[in-house]
Amino acid sequence: MRLVFFGPPGCGKGTYASRVGARLGIPQISTGDMFRSEAAANTELGKLAQLYMKDGKLVPDDVTISMLRERIQKDDCKKGFILDGFPRTIAQMHVLERITHIDLVINFSLDEEIIMEKALARRCCEKCGDIYNVADINRNGIHMPPLLPKKEGICDKCGSRVIQRKDDTYEIIKGRQDLYWKQSEPLLAYYKKKEMVKDVPVIGPPDVMVPMIIDVINKGIKE
Ligand code: ADP
Ligand code: ZN
Repeated sequence: MRLVFFGPPGCGKGTYASRVGARLGIPQISTGDMFRSEAAANTELGKLAQLYMKDGKLVPDDVTISMLRERIQKDDCKKGFILDGFPRTIAQMHVLERITHIDLVINFSLDEEIIMEKALARRCCEKCGDIYNVADINRNGIHMPPLLPKKEGICDKCGSRVIQRKDDTYEIIKGRQDLYWKQSEPLLAYYKKKEMVKDVPVIGPPDVMVPMIIDVINKGIKE
């Protein structure tokens, strides 16, 4: 099963991808996490990516595409994968189409005001990228309680430090939103024309969303 999780930055797709992937037994492939761990390991690729990431800009297509291409050829991708944060440009989408077949695109939507509030409250494991959130949102039928690690500041999954990402400031988050609407959202028109898209409005915490998403995937695959 090869899936793309799509949606504005901060809509929660990384969290859903990690949990849905675990439930379906397929890896979550997050280009953002890959760039961050390269940067943490201070590799040439990481240093290059960091030049763009620190300002919320996209890493150049050739770099991103070759990293992704290598990743999806690994053994753990034989049963499928969930792409999280890729493709983000028309060029990335066309390359993806040439190198593999995508079954479904899950398109998440969430009001920008809530995204901003949540994004500023986002915390992230510096090693494995696991995501937590300190915001407590309850309005307009949307209920998102905080998502905290069991032990404050320590990742549940790997025991590393949970931090606020350097690129999670108001200006950079807003910039990433604008970039999404300009560069990434247009990909949806193309995927919609091919009837690959399932829309999923974000209305609650992961515990509510994950079973909903799995249901949408199971139905979408059968169609
Ligand atoms: P967010 O969803 O909050 O934007 P990500 O973790 O998906 O965060 O991405 C963080 C950064 O990594 C992006 O701002 C961008 O610099 C880089 N990045 C991730 N995926 C891509 C991609 N597909 N193409 C180009 N740059 C990317
Ligand atoms: Zn961790």
